[in-house]
Amino acid sequence: MNDRDDTKPATKVVTAGRRKEWTAGIVNPPIWRASTILYDDVAQLRAAAGRDTHHRLFYGRRGTPTQWSLADALTELEPGAEGTFLYPSGVAAIAAALLAILSPGDELLLVDSAYDPTRGLATGLLKRFGITTRFYDPMIGAGIADLIGPTTRAIFMESPGSLTFEVQDIPAIVAVARAHGIATLLDNTWATPLFFPAIARGIDYTILACTKYVVGHSDAMLGSVTAGPGCFAALRDTSFHLGQHVAPDDAFLGSRGLRTMAVRLRQHQESALTIARWLDARPEVSAVHHPALPGCPGHEQFKRDFTGSSGLFSLALAAGSDDARTTFIDTLDLFGIGYSWGGYESLAIPIDPQRHRSVTTRDDAGLLVRLQIGLEDVGDLIADLDRAFAAWRVVTGA
Ligand SMILES: *Cc1c(COP(=O)(O)O)cnc(C)c1O
Repeated sequence: MNDRDDTKPATKVVTAGRRKEWTAGIVNPPIWRASTILYDDVAQLRAAAGRDTHHRLFYGRRGTPTQWSLADALTELEPGAEGTFLYPSGVAAIAAALLAILSPGDELLLVDSAYDPTRGLATGLLKRFGITTRFYDPMIGAGIADLIGPTTRAIFMESPGSLTFEVQDIPAIVAVARAHGIATLLDNTWATPLFFPAIARGIDYTILACTKYVVGHSDAMLGSVTAGPGCFAALRDTSFHLGQHVAPDDAFLGSRGLRTMAVRLRQHQESALTIARWLDARPEVSAVHHPALPGCPGHEQFKRDFTGSSGLFSLALAAGSDDARTTFIDTLDLFGIGYSWGGYESLAIPIDPQRHRSVTTRDDAGLLVRLQIGLEDVGDLIADLDRAFAAWRVVTGA
C-alpha cells in the first residue's frame, strides 16, 4: 500500500521505485538480466519454491529489481494503490486485467469510444470464452445503472475516449459500480496518474499503455495495470498464469522515461493547448476535440476531475474530400505519420471513428485528423500546420 509520503506527483516521478537495495546507490536502477537464479543448495531451492516471490529473486519470469523498481514507482504514483504488474504492451495489460476479473457467463460493459484493439479483444477472445460485451455511450454517467443486469461483472472506461476525446463521468460510474459490487477498469493512458489519480478516485484497475508517456521516446513497448485495495492478488495470479513478463531492458527504458514524465507532460499540455486554440479559430477547421476546450463533450467533467491535459487531440476539417485530408497530412513536415503517440515528436494521422462505434454515432461534418503534439518549438509546429492548410485549400478550392 502506498502511503509512504505526501510529496507531489512531480517529485514522485523522480524518487519513486529507487530503493537502495535495488539500485545499490546507482541513480538509474541498473538492468538485471536473468532467467536462472542460482541457490546455494537444494534446501534453499525448495524453500524458495514455497515462498511468496514478491520482490524476491526466484526465476527470471518473476522479474528482477529492474522490473520491480518500475512497477513500484507506478504504484507510488497512485495514492491508495496496492500494487502494479507490468506487461509487454498496453494491449497485454488490458487483456490481463479483463481476464483477471471475468469468467464465462459474465457481461462486460465497455465504453463505445474505447481504443479499437480493446473492442477487438472483447468481441473476439472474450466472446470465444463465453463473456458477453455491451457497449455504452461515453456520456452515460449515472445512467449506466440502467444497463446493469444479473451477470454484469465489470465496467471498462477510457477517458477521454480514443479518437474523439469524450470525457466520462467517472465518479458517477464508480458510485453505481460500487453499489452493485461491480469491478471498474480505466484506460488512463491519456491523462496518466499525474493528471488523473485513478485509484484515489475509486477505480479498481487502472491501465497505462506505458508505450506512450511513460517510455516517452517511441523506442519501447510496455504496459501496466495498477490495482486498488484488495485487487492485486487476482491480477498477479492471472498474470502469472499467462506467463507475463517484461524484458529488463524495456523496464529500464520505462523507468528512465518516467523520471522526466512530469516536465514532458507540462510541455505537451502547453503546446497542445496553444495549437488547439489556434486551430479552433481557423476557418479550415469545423471542430477541435480537446477535453480542455469548452466544445468537447464532458468538458465540465474534465474541469472537475482532471488536473491537466496531455498532448493528443483531434480536429475536423471543415470541408473537402479524403484526398484533401491526405494532402493536408502529407504536406506536414514536422509531424510524422504513424501510429502510437506520447513520444517527443509530433505525429498526425487520418482517423475515422465511426468505423469503431456500435451504439453511438459521430455527426462531425468533415474529416478527422488526430494530432500528437510533441516537444518541438510550438511556433514551428503552427507554421507547419499553416503551410498544410494552404495546400489543403488548393485541393478543396476553398
Ligand atoms: C496505444 C494505446 C493502447 C495500447 O498500447 P500498446 O502499448 O500499443 O499495446 C491502449 N490504450 C490506448 C488509449 C492507447 O492509445
